[in-house]
Amino acid sequence: MARLRFKAVDEAQSRQTIKVDIPAGKVTEYYGANIFNDDVMRAMLSPEAYLKVTTAIKSGEKIDREIADEVASAMKSWAVSKGATHYTHWFQPLTGGSAEKHDAFFDINIDGKALEKFKGSSLVQQEPDASSFPSGGIRATFEARGYTAWDPTSPAFIIYNEAGTGTLCVPSIFVSYTGELLDSKSPLLKSLHALDKAATEVAIIFDRHVEKVSATLGAEQEYFLVDKALFNARPDLMMSGRTVFGHAPAKGQQLEDHYFGSIAPRVNAFMVDFEFECLKLGIPIRTRHNEVAPAQFEAAPTFEEVNLACDHNILLMDVMRKVSKKHNFEVLFHEKPFAGINGSGKHNNWSLGTDTGVNLLGPSTKPKESLRFVTFLVNVIKAVHDNADLLRASIATAGNEHRLGANEAPPAIVSIFLGTQMIKVLEDIENKDIVSIEKGENAYIKLGLNRIPSILLDNTDRNRTSPFAFTGNKFEYRAVGSSANSAQPMMVLNSIVANQLIKFRETYDAEMTEHEGKKEEVIVKILKGYIKESKKILFEGNGYSEEWKEEAAKRGLSNVGSTPEALKAYLRPEFIGIFEKLGVLTEREIHARYEIELENYIKKIQIESRLIGDLAMNHVVSTAINYQAKLVQTAKSLKDMELHQEAEPVVHIIKEISARVSEISKKVEEMTEARKHANAVEDLEQRAKLYGNDIKNFFEEIRYPVDKLELLIDDEDWPLVKYRELLYIR
Ligand code: ADP
Ligand code: MG
Repeated sequence: MARLRFKAVDEAQSRQTIKVDIPAGKVTEYYGANIFNDDVMRAMLSPEAYLKVTTAIKSGEKIDREIADEVASAMKSWAVSKGATHYTHWFQPLTGGSAEKHDAFFDINIDGKALEKFKGSSLVQQEPDASSFPSGGIRATFEARGYTAWDPTSPAFIIYNEAGTGTLCVPSIFVSYTGELLDSKSPLLKSLHALDKAATEVAIIFDRHVEKVSATLGAEQEYFLVDKALFNARPDLMMSGRTVFGHAPAKGQQLEDHYFGSIAPRVNAFMVDFEFECLKLGIPIRTRHNEVAPAQFEAAPTFEEVNLACDHNILLMDVMRKVSKKHNFEVLFHEKPFAGINGSGKHNNWSLGTDTGVNLLGPSTKPKESLRFVTFLVNVIKAVHDNADLLRASIATAGNEHRLGANEAPPAIVSIFLGTQMIKVLEDIENKDIVSIEKGENAYIKLGLNRIPSILLDNTDRNRTSPFAFTGNKFEYRAVGSSANSAQPMMVLNSIVANQLIKFRETYDAEMTEHEGKKEEVIVKILKGYIKESKKILFEGNGYSEEWKEEAAKRGLSNVGSTPEALKAYLRPEFIGIFEKLGVLTEREIHARYEIELENYIKKIQIESRLIGDLAMNHVVSTAINYQAKLVQTAKSLKDMELHQEAEPVVHIIKEISARVSEISKKVEEMTEARKHANAVEDLEQRAKLYGNDIKNFFEEIRYPVDKLELLIDDEDWPLVKYRELLYIR
């Protein structure tokens, strides 16, 4: 084993930077080259079909059979001309990630003649054998089939394999035969529709020209890079995406010299390469930089409509995985691959934009428009306050559990950072009784609404410890895990904000009938109430501190560290009510999702538990015993030579190794017993709880003596690639 470690280290040390061939021209010359985008459609479709498709994209209208045939035929010609031989519906089952089943365009007709075929019906709908995808018990075994259906709002794209042939991928939703949603995309689309309706109803109070509101998302993606050879020499990284053992290196992130530092040439080549691939797929990737931790990086795209941005993020991760291998890296999306070192998130920058070109969470220089801005801002705050537990549930996974609520990470408390200046604005609105006595511009000025834009321009305070931060013209939902599909947390955020905006509009209408004509007064009155009711969720301080945990408890905010506990919020009647009212998910679908999440959680911990047992016994303990045998020989020889005093420290180490080894063996045995016990428990919730507590609690208890042994045993004998070797890329 130690031999494998050193071979891997040698291999990693001698790596050369892989050359990347990027066309010399402007990015605009290849941007979107591999997608069936608007330009291609305009060129290849009849004007009638083009109009139908673009209307369908904008309004969600159904596409009829003939048009579908024409679009399919155009897509096929385009794809074949670009070297595609197969097509697939690309969808996002509840396992996370994406799924596809490739079919060839190539077909033989009745006369035995070869032809390329792709009919409208194949574009619109497919029937993958879905029985192997999780459904949370929705699909009874006698009706195992589900179907995928084309989502025309996200453009089809071509993915190439190593041989250079391509597959046309058609973004799709995935539903059961009885109509239940089995994927992440379909409820997201429904939530976006609900949010559009609700937000438009509020936006037209301020501007009657608004017809549509779209939610936007820019998902900053954090990740680690590890050399492929080193990765392959760490079974834990290979099987669970994180290191279950490993002593912190002497030089960690204390110096913070990695952040925004210069990027190593090998890493830079990888970035240039995957960005090129992304740009061809129309993924608007823009920034690249080092993150706080060594070997940690970030990629940030320009924001897009949420559904598209979610697809693009899933695709981005796929592209990164593929391209990383070419550069002899493995990319780690796990939320906490290394203990004692920062974890990774996926910061979901979210906002609302109108079809009139206004960012509803962006302040304006006109005080009147600032009232609109504050209205949307306060409604989001109220939504997050009232539904914090649901938002927490939307990011609860085994991986993110290491990041949220663990000792070296942000807490699992949902709070909002606004910046001191915005806090002041809200305080003014809450406390100053202006509107009833003053009219016109003056009222806005007294409320401080006239100075918001300049405040936000100057406002450089950024809070890196807040799970949900207002950053000038958008909210940054930072608590989302790096490996997550953003569709889930976005679906929840959209839904709670839609629900809140509906309530706001109802209250507004009711109040307006009473106070005829005094629009601003009514709005400010409602906002005052909202601010009072929800200000306890606002927190400006250090979210990682112990004081905050105490303070939050005093305020009555939830702090749910455990995933099974957090997931339970999905089942609360008030939350089910929101999803049902908006038509996003039915109660049955929510229950199914809840079960799938619990099962995923159990499986992840089960895998890690087995892995820990195996590595601890077969790699660490066996190495320790061999090393101990060497020491025993040494001690014996010293004693034979009457060097008793000199033998003393050797005996001491022998004893310490013995103690650690027996501790590890004992704990591994107990953990195995706990697993047996848990597996025998029928009830899913109960089992998940056992895995989250009884079994997971052993992880640290076993890790501690293992990491101690790493310090005791001769470096030459240690079997696992060490942190200092994994984290420093050359
Ligand atoms: P930083 O937060 O590092 O200062 P930016 O403010 O430029 O950087 O943006 C960070 C991320 O926020 C980017 O991915 C960007 O696309 C996204 N973003 C910017 N504006 C919006 C918006 N209106 N809606 C959604 N995301 C946005
Ligand atoms: Mg950011």
